[in-house]
Amino acid sequence: MALTVAKKTPVAAKTLTTRRDSHEVRVRTAARDGQYHLIATRTLAAGEFLMTIDGELACVPCRHSVQVGPQLHIAPPAGLTRNDAHDLYLWRFLNHSCKPNCMVVGRDLVAIAGIAVGEEVTLDYNSNEYDMAAPFRCHCGHCDGANIRGYRHLSPAERKRRQHRLAKYLREALDQTTV
Ligand SMILES: [Zn+2]
Repeated sequence: MALTVAKKTPVAAKTLTTRRDSHEVRVRTAARDGQYHLIATRTLAAGEFLMTIDGELACVPCRHSVQVGPQLHIAPPAGLTRNDAHDLYLWRFLNHSCKPNCMVVGRDLVAIAGIAVGEEVTLDYNSNEYDMAAPFRCHCGHCDGANIRGYRHLSPAERKRRQHRLAKYLREALDQTTV
Protein backbone atom coordinates (compact mmCIF):
# COMPACT_ATOMS: atom_id res chain seq x y z
CA MET A 1 0.00 0.00 0.00
CA ALA A 2 1.52 3.31 -1.03
CA LEU A 3 1.50 6.28 1.26
CA THR A 4 0.23 9.47 -0.30
CA VAL A 5 2.33 12.57 -0.57
CA ALA A 6 2.12 14.65 2.58
CA LYS A 7 3.97 17.59 4.07
CA LYS A 8 6.87 16.39 6.13
CA THR A 9 6.76 17.46 9.73
CA PRO A 10 9.53 17.02 12.32
CA VAL A 11 9.47 13.70 14.12
CA ALA A 12 8.84 13.84 17.88
CA ALA A 13 12.04 13.76 19.92
CA LYS A 14 10.96 10.62 21.78
CA THR A 15 10.92 8.62 18.54
CA LEU A 16 14.42 9.62 17.48
CA THR A 17 16.92 6.80 17.68
CA THR A 18 20.41 6.12 16.42
CA ARG A 19 18.76 4.52 13.41
CA ARG A 20 17.80 7.92 12.06
CA ASP A 21 21.31 9.17 12.78
CA SER A 22 22.68 6.33 10.68
CA HIS A 23 21.05 7.40 7.44
CA GLU A 24 19.98 11.01 7.64
CA VAL A 25 22.95 12.48 5.78
CA ARG A 26 22.92 9.87 3.02
CA VAL A 27 19.34 9.41 1.82
CA ARG A 28 15.89 10.96 2.00
CA THR A 29 12.44 10.31 0.57
CA ALA A 30 11.26 12.12 -2.55
CA ALA A 31 7.92 12.03 -4.37
CA ARG A 32 7.25 11.25 -8.03
CA ASP A 33 3.75 10.82 -9.46
CA GLY A 34 2.36 10.56 -5.94
CA GLN A 35 4.71 7.72 -4.99
CA TYR A 36 7.70 7.96 -2.73
CA HIS A 37 11.18 6.71 -3.49
CA LEU A 38 14.62 7.21 -1.97
CA ILE A 39 17.32 9.52 -3.27
CA ALA A 40 20.91 10.10 -2.21
CA THR A 41 21.57 13.39 -0.42
CA ARG A 42 25.30 13.21 -1.09
CA THR A 43 27.68 11.47 -3.45
CA LEU A 44 28.22 7.85 -2.48
CA ALA A 45 30.94 5.47 -3.61
CA ALA A 46 30.62 1.73 -4.18
CA GLY A 47 30.97 -0.06 -0.86
CA GLU A 48 29.58 2.81 1.22
CA PHE A 49 26.97 2.16 3.91
CA LEU A 50 23.61 3.85 3.37
CA MET A 51 21.42 2.71 6.24
CA THR A 52 20.52 -0.09 8.59
CA ILE A 53 17.27 -1.87 7.83
CA ASP A 54 15.50 -1.85 11.18
CA GLY A 55 12.00 -2.90 12.11
CA GLU A 56 10.07 -5.91 13.33
CA LEU A 57 11.44 -9.38 12.70
CA ALA A 58 9.11 -11.85 11.03
CA CYS A 59 9.47 -15.39 9.71
CA VAL A 60 7.25 -14.80 6.67
CA PRO A 61 7.44 -11.99 4.10
CA CYS A 62 4.85 -9.26 3.68
CA ARG A 63 4.36 -6.63 1.00
CA HIS A 64 6.89 -4.19 2.52
CA SER A 65 9.33 -6.52 4.30
CA VAL A 66 13.00 -6.97 3.42
CA GLN A 67 14.47 -10.47 3.67
CA VAL A 68 17.78 -10.66 5.54
CA GLY A 69 18.14 -14.42 6.09
CA PRO A 70 16.45 -17.79 5.63
CA GLN A 71 12.93 -17.34 7.06
CA LEU A 72 14.00 -13.96 8.45
CA HIS A 73 12.35 -10.76 7.29
CA ILE A 74 12.28 -7.20 8.59
CA ALA A 75 8.94 -5.42 8.34
CA PRO A 76 7.91 -1.86 9.16
CA PRO A 77 6.45 -1.86 12.69
CA ALA A 78 2.68 -2.14 13.02
CA GLY A 79 0.92 1.20 13.46
CA LEU A 80 3.69 3.09 11.69
CA THR A 81 2.89 6.78 11.36
CA ARG A 82 3.72 8.72 8.24
CA ASN A 83 6.44 10.67 10.06
CA ASP A 84 8.02 7.51 11.42
CA ALA A 85 8.05 5.98 7.94
CA HIS A 86 9.92 8.94 6.51
CA ASP A 87 12.29 9.51 9.41
CA LEU A 88 13.01 6.08 10.87
CA TYR A 89 12.05 3.48 8.27
CA LEU A 90 13.09 5.06 5.00
CA TRP A 91 13.94 1.66 3.55
CA ARG A 92 10.17 1.13 3.30
CA PHE A 93 10.36 3.32 0.15
CA LEU A 94 13.24 1.50 -1.49
CA ASN A 95 12.27 0.66 -5.07
CA HIS A 96 13.34 -2.33 -7.11
CA SER A 97 15.56 -2.02 -10.19
CA CYS A 98 16.98 -4.74 -12.43
CA LYS A 99 20.10 -2.53 -12.55
CA PRO A 100 20.40 -1.58 -8.87
CA ASN A 101 22.97 0.64 -7.18
CA CYS A 102 22.65 -1.01 -3.75
CA MET A 103 22.52 -4.45 -2.14
CA VAL A 104 21.64 -5.91 1.24
CA VAL A 105 24.65 -6.84 3.39
CA GLY A 106 23.50 -8.41 6.65
CA ARG A 107 20.90 -5.86 7.76
CA ASP A 108 22.55 -2.93 6.05
CA LEU A 109 21.98 -1.32 2.68
CA VAL A 110 25.30 -0.79 0.90
CA ALA A 111 26.14 0.94 -2.41
CA ILE A 112 27.44 -1.32 -5.20
CA ALA A 113 28.00 1.55 -7.63
CA GLY A 114 28.72 5.25 -7.42
CA ILE A 115 25.54 7.20 -6.64
CA ALA A 116 25.17 10.90 -7.45
CA VAL A 117 23.36 13.48 -5.31
CA GLY A 118 19.64 13.27 -6.13
CA GLU A 119 19.96 9.89 -7.86
CA GLU A 120 17.41 7.25 -6.89
CA VAL A 121 18.68 4.53 -4.56
CA THR A 122 17.50 1.09 -5.74
CA LEU A 123 17.76 -2.58 -4.86
CA ASP A 124 17.25 -5.73 -6.96
CA TYR A 125 14.59 -7.54 -4.92
CA ASN A 126 15.57 -10.79 -6.67
CA SER A 127 18.97 -10.50 -4.97
CA ASN A 128 17.65 -10.71 -1.41
CA GLU A 129 14.03 -11.94 -1.47
CA TYR A 130 13.57 -15.69 -1.87
CA ASP A 131 9.82 -15.87 -2.57
CA MET A 132 8.02 -12.55 -2.53
CA ALA A 133 4.64 -11.96 -0.89
CA ALA A 134 3.65 -9.40 -3.53
CA PRO A 135 5.19 -10.10 -6.98
CA PHE A 136 4.87 -7.38 -9.62
CA ARG A 137 5.76 -6.53 -13.20
CA CYS A 138 8.89 -4.36 -13.39
CA HIS A 139 8.99 -0.90 -14.96
CA CYS A 140 12.59 -0.09 -14.07
CA GLY A 141 13.56 0.73 -17.64
CA HIS A 142 16.42 -1.79 -17.66
CA CYS A 143 14.34 -4.89 -18.48
CA ASP A 144 11.43 -5.94 -20.70
CA GLY A 145 8.90 -5.82 -17.90
CA ALA A 146 10.20 -8.79 -15.93
CA ASN A 147 8.02 -10.47 -13.34
CA ILE A 148 9.75 -9.84 -10.02
CA ARG A 149 8.90 -12.77 -7.77
CA GLY A 150 12.09 -13.54 -5.84
CA TYR A 151 15.26 -15.60 -6.19
CA ARG A 152 13.33 -18.87 -6.01
CA HIS A 153 11.84 -18.20 -9.43
CA LEU A 154 15.09 -17.31 -11.24
CA SER A 155 16.80 -19.63 -13.71
CA PRO A 156 20.29 -20.92 -12.80
CA ALA A 157 21.75 -18.39 -15.29
CA GLU A 158 19.80 -15.52 -13.75
CA ARG A 159 20.96 -16.54 -10.28
CA LYS A 160 24.57 -16.69 -11.36
CA ARG A 161 24.36 -13.29 -13.06
CA ARG A 162 23.45 -11.80 -9.68
CA GLN A 163 26.11 -13.53 -7.63
CA HIS A 164 28.07 -10.30 -7.01
CA ARG A 165 25.08 -8.67 -5.37
CA LEU A 166 23.29 -11.57 -3.69
CA ALA A 167 22.48 -11.41 -0.01
CA LYS A 168 24.83 -13.69 1.91
CA TYR A 169 22.28 -16.41 2.61
CA LEU A 170 21.38 -16.64 -1.09
CA ARG A 171 25.04 -16.57 -2.14
CA GLU A 172 25.66 -19.54 0.13
CA ALA A 173 22.69 -21.35 -1.44
CA LEU A 174 24.09 -20.59 -4.90
CA ASP A 175 27.53 -21.89 -3.93
CA GLN A 176 25.99 -25.13 -2.71
CA THR A 177 24.10 -25.69 -5.94
CA THR A 178 27.02 -24.95 -8.26
CA VAL A 179 29.74 -27.17 -6.72
ZN1 LIG B 1 13.37 -4.30 -14.37
